[in-house]
Amino acid sequence: MLAPGSTIGILGGGQLGRMMAVAGLQLGYKVIGFAPEGDNIAADACSGFITADWDDRQALAEFAAACDVVTWEFENVPVATVSALPSSLIACPLRALEVAQDRLHEKQFVAALGGSPAPYARVETDEDFAAAVSQIGTPGILKTAREGYDGKGQWRVRSEMEASGIRFPGVPCVYEGFVTYETEFSVILVRARDGDIKFWNSTANHHEGGMLTCSILPAGALVEAQVGAARELAARVAAELAYVGVLTLEFFATRATGTQGVPVFNEMAPRVHNSGHWTIEGAATSQFENHIRAICGLPLGGTKTRFASIEMRNIVGEDSLAAHKILAETGEPHLHLYGKREAREGRKMGHVTRVGHALK
Ligand code: AMP
Repeated sequence: MLAPGSTIGILGGGQLGRMMAVAGLQLGYKVIGFAPEGDNIAADACSGFITADWDDRQALAEFAAACDVVTWEFENVPVATVSALPSSLIACPLRALEVAQDRLHEKQFVAALGGSPAPYARVETDEDFAAAVSQIGTPGILKTAREGYDGKGQWRVRSEMEASGIRFPGVPCVYEGFVTYETEFSVILVRARDGDIKFWNSTANHHEGGMLTCSILPAGALVEAQVGAARELAARVAAELAYVGVLTLEFFATRATGTQGVPVFNEMAPRVHNSGHWTIEGAATSQFENHIRAICGLPLGGTKTRFASIEMRNIVGEDSLAAHKILAETGEPHLHLYGKREAREGRKMGHVTRVGHALK
């Protein structure tokens, strides 16, 4: 167990790091962040923050010297950065980052453990793209294999005609068939160092333009019918990676005609997740606190849902400028603003969680 007063290092400076840092502070730890120049809002909740490039060896050595354990808040921290730190400090397995940074690798990895991704093909040239479209058909989605998030680096392909008009981006991509689903959901689990696993309830997740807009509980009968299989897969992924901390797998709940379909695996995130923000007020222990507990070797907290209904909604772009009005609503909404300087269009600025009546 990491003694209170020890220092947790977080790679990345966004809202996930900020909420993780708050949970670390609550448990008596000091938190230090590390990220390149940018609007590093996690710094507000850290006692120290190193602003340096991911390949700045000197800054990384300084960071390592100050930390007792290191975690990350987003999956695109370069593997070389994490490898440059003493491995004894790294709480979550590096392999989880390697797998999650590449959509092809991720799909192969999860499929080998029994998961069902949408049909997909590797695409590295215009010819590959044409072959993938003719093999898998349309509609489909072309995605960059690396670096995409919140719908960025993705192109919808409605027809072969449309495919011929898309200029291939020139970086490795994956083309996948468009899944006709009823709901999206995610399985969020926390795994302790001793292998103990706890799951939070799965919300129904709604997206617009590839970005999460809201997460809702209860998620509905179809998700409830498929969540068991999805959890089993997520637990196999976590065990295979010897994972420590919070891990998220995203799924499409599909309805095959007449019967129930299978949960189609979309992607995984080796970190706390936007669709788990509701757990701050809505669960016995939040995803942020349990991540800190897991990486510090503390006992995990219960994950039970505390309310009959919950809605977490992201506050995006200029909507954040009037977000304080939410506080005047009845029903005690919980407002979180991330302290970002500029309310740019499409930028996650905060979220609000609204809950129904308390469960006994
Ligand atoms: P991703 O970055 O892969 O999570 O994609 C962002 C969002 O785009 C997903 O949450 C879905 O809403 C949508 N999407 C991605 N891939 C597919 C697919 N193969 N079929 C249908 N919708 C998809």
